[in-house]
Amino acid sequence: MAEMQLPAGKLAELSERFLQDVYSIPDGEKIKLCLQCGTCSASCPTSYAMDYTPREIIAAFRAGMLDRVLKSNTVWMCASCYSCTVRCPAGIKLTDVMYELKRLGIEYGLYAKQATAPVLSREFVKMVDKHGRNPELSLLGTFYLKTNPFGLLKMAPLGLKLFKRGRLAFRPSKVKKQYELARITKRLESKEGK
Ligand code: SF4
Ligand code: SF4
Repeated sequence: MAEMQLPAGKLAELSERFLQDVYSIPDGEKIKLCLQCGTCSASCPTSYAMDYTPREIIAAFRAGMLDRVLKSNTVWMCASCYSCTVRCPAGIKLTDVMYELKRLGIEYGLYAKQATAPVLSREFVKMVDKHGRNPELSLLGTFYLKTNPFGLLKMAPLGLKLFKRGRLAFRPSKVKKQYELARITKRLESKEGK
């Protein structure tokens, strides 16, 4: 488990930012109502592989351990299946909380060093910004080059099979009027920065 490294002031700022962002989600304030009943953890198909279960995420946050939560593997193990969200008796939208934690982890560079999902997530967003869709080959190539170059060689036979069946394009395609998408993204980012 990663050790807490953020100075107290920075940790307080991070926790405040997390809370404000969660409160801005519809019904986000319900996070205060957690009963610690564990229904979310019992419903979660991937909790067995998480450093902190969904219930523990909220307990750890209350204990002022947000940076440890971010550096754990938990949020990257979340499959966004929404079981916790639909079953929580307090109406807490835990899946959205997981997304918020992923966003904060990437923004502050707080994630486990061996975690590859944040790299995939960041590259995916960059490619979609650029092309308006996901060019699988470029995304996978960049991801493997940044995380495990030898993995690329291992995946080559599968890539070739997919290419032969027309399931993988060598040249990335763009959506029409991509500049309109760029304009929307820019506007959203400027709103977030306010
Ligand atoms: S199911 Fe809801 S109330 Fe129960 S521990 Fe999970 S988040 Fe808290
Ligand atoms: S949304 Fe994530 S945390 Fe919630 S039950 Fe599914 S995998 Fe688990």
